[in-house]
Amino acid sequence: MDLFFVIIFGLMVGSFLNVCIYRMPREESIVHPRSHCQKCNHQLPFWENIPVLSFLFLRGRCSSCKTPISFRYIFVELLTALLFILLYNQYGLSLDTLIFIFFCCVILIITFIDIDYQIIPNQLLLIGVIPAVYQIIRIGFQNSSSYFIGAVGLGTGILLIGLMGNILFKKESMGMGDVKYAVLIGLLLGWQNGLVAISLAFLSAGFLILVLFPFGKISFGQRIPFGPFLSLGTIIAMLWGPIIISTYLQLMF
Ligand SMILES: [Zn+2]
Repeated sequence: MDLFFVIIFGLMVGSFLNVCIYRMPREESIVHPRSHCQKCNHQLPFWENIPVLSFLFLRGRCSSCKTPISFRYIFVELLTALLFILLYNQYGLSLDTLIFIFFCCVILIITFIDIDYQIIPNQLLLIGVIPAVYQIIRIGFQNSSSYFIGAVGLGTGILLIGLMGNILFKKESMGMGDVKYAVLIGLLLGWQNGLVAISLAFLSAGFLILVLFPFGKISFGQRIPFGPFLSLGTIIAMLWGPIIISTYLQLMF
């Protein structure tokens, strides 16, 4: 029963995240006007605005002009619900779950805006600071050194790697958005989990480049947004960071 509510909640939040992803970079309000077709402006009555179900029952097309609706909307809704289930499974009904769920939403918006526009808006990073600061206040300033070290360490690390990339590729390889995003991740996860997140980000980016390069899908020196990889690493670290660390230490030592 709990799970059912988590899924419904996740789908509804995912639907709202879609609105944020579409409207925030266009500097439109996220509450007004109501959802409408981007092609013909047809306003969606509530039964055409139900996550996943409406998409299926409209067969993926606007009811008015029949323009296909991007499959990404449904993907973001399902992904949000899946992440909520995983976080709920891991941390139960707790404050940690709520903090991580909130952060997860910010991460999802950042990820898809970065894919679309290759920018990470400052206002989103600032919203992401809220759960991080709340967590620090909750556990006490004096017990939070890991989070401050994480913020400074991860930010500096990405900055230095970016500078090395600039010299290597003779153009900007990583934007300041990535650096600020890394600071935020360190502040929320602490340096241990933050290190897991960053390592996974580089591993997954490297893996994708190795897979795509031979097929000519990407070319040497092409700019790929790094934000989505940071997001992937962060979500995995949020869910399984401690398990990954202990397994790694057992294998190495
Ligand atoms: Zn339409």
